[in-house]
Formats: sequence, C-alpha cells, structure tokens
Amino acid sequence: MTDPATQTPDREQSLQFQAEVAKLLDIVVHSLYSNPEIFLRELISNASDACDKLRYAAITTPKLLEDGGGTFEIHLSTDKTARTLTIADNGIGMTRDELVANLGTIAKSGTQEFMKSLSGDKAKDVSLIGQFGVGFYSAFMVADKVDVYTRKAGETQGWRWSSDGKGTFSIAAESNVARGAKIVLHLKEDASDYLDKFRLRSIVKTYSDHIAVPVILDPAPGEKVKDGDTEKDASPETLNSASALWMRPKAEITPEQYKEFYHHVGHAFDEPWHTVHFKAEGAIEYTALLFVPSTKPFDLFNPDRKSNVKLYVNRVFISDQLEGLMPRYLRFVRGVVDSSDLPLNISREMLQDNPVLRKIQGGVVKRLLKDLKDRAEKPEEYNKFWDAFGPVMKEGLYEDFERREDLLELARFRSSLHEGWVSLKDYVGRMKEGQDCIYTITGDDAGILKNSPQLEGFMAKGVEVLLLTDPIDEFWGSSVGAYDKKPFKAVAMAADADLAKIKGGDADEKKDDAAGAASEQALKDLIENLKKSLGAAVADVRTTDKLKGSPVCLVADTGGMSLHMARLLKQHGEAGGLAIRKVLEINARHALIKRLMTLSGTAFDDAAALLLDQARIVEGEPVADPVAFAKRLSAMLEKALV
Ligand code: ADP
Ligand code: MG
Repeated sequence: MTDPATQTPDREQSLQFQAEVAKLLDIVVHSLYSNPEIFLRELISNASDACDKLRYAAITTPKLLEDGGGTFEIHLSTDKTARTLTIADNGIGMTRDELVANLGTIAKSGTQEFMKSLSGDKAKDVSLIGQFGVGFYSAFMVADKVDVYTRKAGETQGWRWSSDGKGTFSIAAESNVARGAKIVLHLKEDASDYLDKFRLRSIVKTYSDHIAVPVILDPAPGEKVKDGDTEKDASPETLNSASALWMRPKAEITPEQYKEFYHHVGHAFDEPWHTVHFKAEGAIEYTALLFVPSTKPFDLFNPDRKSNVKLYVNRVFISDQLEGLMPRYLRFVRGVVDSSDLPLNISREMLQDNPVLRKIQGGVVKRLLKDLKDRAEKPEEYNKFWDAFGPVMKEGLYEDFERREDLLELARFRSSLHEGWVSLKDYVGRMKEGQDCIYTITGDDAGILKNSPQLEGFMAKGVEVLLLTDPIDEFWGSSVGAYDKKPFKAVAMAADADLAKIKGGDADEKKDDAAGAASEQALKDLIENLKKSLGAAVADVRTTDKLKGSPVCLVADTGGMSLHMARLLKQHGEAGGLAIRKVLEINARHALIKRLMTLSGTAFDDAAALLLDQARIVEGEPVADPVAFAKRLSAMLEKALV
C-alpha cells in the first residue's frame, strides 16, 4: 500500500490488476495450457511487434533511433543461479501509463467480452480462450514473478513493472534502462528446462522462425565452448531465419511455418482455414500472405469493424489499422500485404484514400473471392467457413456493388425444404414452373421460420423459401434486387397471384373447398367488422391464399419494412416513431374464420382480439395486453371444455 504523500514517480507504487486480468491470470496459471512453452512465442511476438512499431515511428522521427540504434534485435539469456530467463528487445518500449494500460488491463475488447461472458461455470468455456490467447500473461505459466524493465524510445525515464501474477503489480522508476523492453522471468520450480539452450533453440525454431527480427541467444556469463582441444568464450547464436516469411519462396515454407506465422501476425490461436500466398506483378507489385481463420473471433461484430491485415512497405511495418486495405466484410482475414510501390514515408492519413492502395485492395479481394469459390467446391469444408463468417460476408452484398455477383455466388442460406446450407444456384435450379422470384422470409430462428403460417401456401406447392436469420439479411435484400435475373421477394410481399401462377401439387384444392368458402358478401362484411373491432391495432385486414392450416397471420404492409426488421431496430433503440403498417391476413377457407362470421357483439370482439394476439405471437411480436389476452383465453377455454 502506498502513502498518498509519497506518490512521487520514483517511488514504487502498488496497483491492482483490472478485475478481468486477475480472473484471466487465474485461468492461465491453473487450467489453461497443456504446452506452456508457447509463452516464449508470445513474448518474442510482442518483442517483434515493438520493433516493427519503432521502425515505423522512426521513418518520420529518425532521432528516435539515436540511442539504441536502428538495428533491431531480440536477445534471450539465461542465468542458472538466479533461475531467470530474459527476453530483451530494443523496440519502442513503454511509458509508465502504457505499462499500466497494456499489462494491467485487457485492452482488447474481444478478450474483455470473453472474460465477461465467463460465468460461474467457467471450466466449460475456458478452452475457448485458446482461440485468442492471453499474450503477455502466458509468462505466468512458467514464472512465479515477472519483471519488465522498459524505456520508451525518445524518453529518458525508464520503469520497472513487477508482479507475481496474483492480483497486484508494482511500478517503480528505474535508472539505466535500455531502450525497449526487457522481460525477466523468475522461473517456477518445474520450469527449469527453459534454462536449457537446446530447449530454447528448439522452441524458437518451432514457433518463431518466421520472426523477421533476429532472435539471438546470448552465452551465459563465462560460458565456454570447445573448439577442437581448446576452450573459448561462447558467442551469441541467432536462432531464427530472421527473414520476412512472406518474401520467401512458397516452396520453402512448410504448413507448420505458415501456421506459426498466422498465430503471430493474426494474434490468433486456431488453425488457419485457408492460407493464400502470392506475388502480384504488373503495374503495381505486392506480395500478400493472407489467412482465413477457422474460428470466429469474439470481436467480429464490434461496431468499428476494423480490418486486420498488416501493411508493409518493403518489409517495414506501416499499419494494421488501414481503412483502405481490406473491405470491411473481409475483416476476419489476417495476414500481411507488402508493396514496394508505396512510399516508405507515407503517413497513415495519406493512405486513407490512396489510389495504389485501392488497386492493391482490388487485387487482393479478387484473389480471395476466387479462392473461396474454389473451396466452395467442397461443401463440407466450405460450410464451416460460411458458418463462421457468412453473416460478415453478406455485409458485402450491399457494401461492394462491384463484386455483388461473386458474393451472391458465395452466399449460402437456410431453406424451408432442405437441411444445411443452400446456394442460390441450387435454389434457382429447383424453382417451380411459373415461379419467377426467389422467396425469402426473415426472422431470428430458422426452425421457427420454417413453421411460419406465412409459408403454408408455399409449402403446399413445394415452393422453396430461403430462411434468413441474420440481422444483416434485412438490409441487403432491397439493394441486391435479383440473382440470375430472379428478384428476391419476401413471402409477406407475395401476392396471391404470385402463388396462383406457380404450378404445384394442390392446383385442384381451391376448387374443392371453394364450395365450402363463404360468399363474397359475407367475407366483405367480416373484414369490415374485424377492422371496426380491432381498430388502430391493424392498418388493414385482407384475405390471403397463402395460409393453409392457420386461420390468420400478421404481416407488414407491402413496401414497408418487415416486422422482424422493425423489432431489430427497436432492440437497438431505434424505434423512434416507427410507424409500421401491420396487416391481418385471414384464411377465408378456415373453419374458424367461417365460424367468426356467425358471431356478433362481445363474443365477436373477444374472438377477433384473440386471433390477432395469436397472429402476433406466431410472428414473434409481443401481445399488446397480456392480461386481457389471458382473460379472454380463459373465458374461451371455460366455454370449450365441457
Ligand atoms: P497483444 O500482443 O495481442 O496486443 P499482449 O498481451 O501480448 O497482447 O501484449 C499486450 C500489450 O503490451 C501489447 O499490445 C503491447 O502494447 C504491450 N507490450 C507487450 N510486450 C511489449 C514489448 N516487448 N515492448 C513494447 N510493448 C509491449
Ligand atoms: Mg502479444
């Protein structure tokens, strides 16, 4: 505990980890990894990122390199007596505030969301954490105390951060700290093998060979090596290839190396679902090494929807936050694009609307979509991709006009007639004679949609309907218009005439029960009475041929937004005076509707109100007055149960 009076910057200060960090550390130490050696990959990965950041900052501010030099290196060293392993870099380093923010809190919103989602029964979900990893904190798998000595490039004051990973950490000013960061791990009893050179060499080779900064193992103080018969001082040894992986020829890179690079560059922990490595030659030259993850990151639907591909210019890291490099609907793609056709001293601002960058984006996206198309040939594999990223890809349907056709080919949907994912090509191939639209219905759950009364007429004729359950589905439909010249049409918008045109199994049905249908006049009267009785609750009442088994359904009026869309907007607090016209559609051939014609007075009003509430429930709308609904239903049951 610190006395407030002594809180000067050079006094040691004890601080608490953010609650999520404390929880995370607990998981890391007690239940997480079966292979703790990955801590080294994490620390080397961070060191390499820190070097990249300084190299970039120095393009505009060369004097940042004055002390500490412009040659970037990562040094590993061991001390068997002190039982420490040290990882030191001469990268950008951290200020005191950055130390607190980066090592005392969880900066990544995805991780934060994940930690919040871990409820009491956490063991079940803990395996998921491996998908995005724990970065720096993995050090506590092998160390019972970690010291970080760091000095930010361009600053004179250095700092020491220390923690045993149990709830608090301390920070103190420190003199004689070199530029960059030096992580000293006080190894646990059972972690002695990380003092062993062979072990370190093999871990670095396995996980960090692709790191472009040299990882150098320093000899222990006084360490000797045999040279023939004589002994001489051991010399430092570079453990990795230290060249940019993406610039190496494809034939020389193993799948393992690609995977490790993906883990580093994507801050990811799963297998890549797809890896694409190519060099574009021509007017603009660039190399791209890109990965599609196999699992969905937690922050996929963050509002900022930012891209995750890193831009390099001649192997110098420029930015991983560029608007122009990747379209947003491909924000799940990880990797690197390196071009020599952009000026090195370009600022991130200048890159926002850069024609060269735009051309690169065009090429990269074209290639990715082509690869996806190829992989769609194998549906079992492709469906896994679509499961994870389909909802994001569909954003492209209204954002990327140019590639709409390609994206429609790639899109998959749930269907009323087939299990699993269905492509539009399949759908169109199965369209019925006389059918000229692609029918869709939107809602939250495919299973429920499948049983919607609105589909009854379509089901009876064997007409397939696409069940759209992603929020995004409400948005692209109107802007896409058509696929293969067949317009998309919501079933709620389909007129009876649409359905009548389609040849299907029950062509004779209408004739049959036409005999039992009520007279035109009786129907007209019923509609008038329903309108009067229901008042402002519905904008209109009309008959429909789309219903078969159900007496009624509730739809949004033609041209307006769907009821599902209105609910979505409301969930997001955007209901603001949304006037949506709700229409009660009735099935004139249903026995209940015919009975309704014989009622009057309160009996009629109660039945009408119940039918409307039933239609609301089926559609997923709330019942306007649950108490009144329950009362009417009880009264009705009482009469019926004899
Ligand atoms: P990530 O690397 O995915 O951001 P980490 O937990 O590995 O997450 O690291 C957290 C943050 O701490 C980094 O984003 C970086 O800002 C900072 N950091 C970690 N190691 C270093 C280092 N060697 N030099 C400078 N900053 C570092
Ligand atoms: Mg990291």
